[in-house]
Amino acid sequence: MALKRDKFDDIFSKLVRERVGWDCDYCGRNFQHEPAKLHCSHFKSRRHKSTRYHPYNAFAHCVGCHRKLEEDPYEFTTHAEIVYGEMTIERVARLASSVLRLKKWQKDELYKHLKSEHKRLQELRSDGVTGRIEFTTPDWYQEGITMRMGES
Ligand SMILES: [Zn+2]
Repeated sequence: MALKRDKFDDIFSKLVRERVGWDCDYCGRNFQHEPAKLHCSHFKSRRHKSTRYHPYNAFAHCVGCHRKLEEDPYEFTTHAEIVYGEMTIERVARLASSVLRLKKWQKDELYKHLKSEHKRLQELRSDGVTGRIEFTTPDWYQEGITMRMGES
């Protein structure tokens, strides 16, 4: 899977890892001091533009967990459902199969939005906020998919 990473992937990856304070979503180890060992991992592959930057299609996974979950899609699905809820994962999976071509204004808006969300999370961290901090993408991209914990 040799998909080139662009500036959208970079800022999105930072956001996904900052969201959890640099803890692996699977094993819980902290990687604040080894940031390169924590990856932004996608449930539905980055090939799908409609979910490539979706908050609930991505996880922070350490190198070992990333590999393990990629090799075990069943376990990845179970894990994804535990983190975001079954309903959310179902909707993300459905959204992944819809075709999206980003127009210029959408790209601009998405990038600006991700940048400002990253800044917001960093500010909260420097104010001493710990634990998980959710971020959003523009409404037209997120498709109203939010966390629906406890539902099935
Ligand atoms: Zn891990």
